Amino acid sequence: MFENESISMTIDRQKNIALIAHDSKKHEMIDWCKKNKEILERHFLCGTGTTARMVAEQTGLPVRGYNSGPLGGDQQIGARIVDGKIDLVIFFSDPLAAQPHDPDVKALLRIAQVYDIPIANNRATADFIVTSSFMNEEYTHEIINFRKNIADRANTL
Ligand code: PGA
Repeated sequence: MFENESISMTIDRQKNIALIAHDSKKHEMIDWCKKNKEILERHFLCGTGTTARMVAEQTGLPVRGYNSGPLGGDQQIGARIVDGKIDLVIFFSDPLAAQPHDPDVKALLRIAQVYDIPIANNRATADFIVTSSFMNEEYTHEIINFRKNIADRANTL
């Protein structure tokens, strides 16, 4: 049976947005969420445990919390991307501090790239993304056809 290399996926108008901030960036994340509250409240928010808790408490926005980042939260968010349940990631990472969970951070960046998920790793990128007209529209993009990928690999390896 012929199958395409890629499949079309549609991101809904109402987006599932993951928020992650390393410790030195948490206050910047809260400030950014406050400034963009009117936009963010039209979408579904989730995040790594501490970031989610602090944003929820200090902005009043509902944020579903996963585990804390160093305890697997980044991996949970990565797995949700694979399942098609997260559409956009705002990740204020700290470029000047070593992280104990650096492999998890890299894995998250990589899986977002694989699934063509917009991911902002600084405030300017986050501003450009949330003010994009795509925030209020459906967005269709092409992602790798994982079924064909498995079939091809099983046939050729
Ligand atoms: P945290 O995790 O929100 O639980 O602090 C963020 C991270 O360091 O990845």
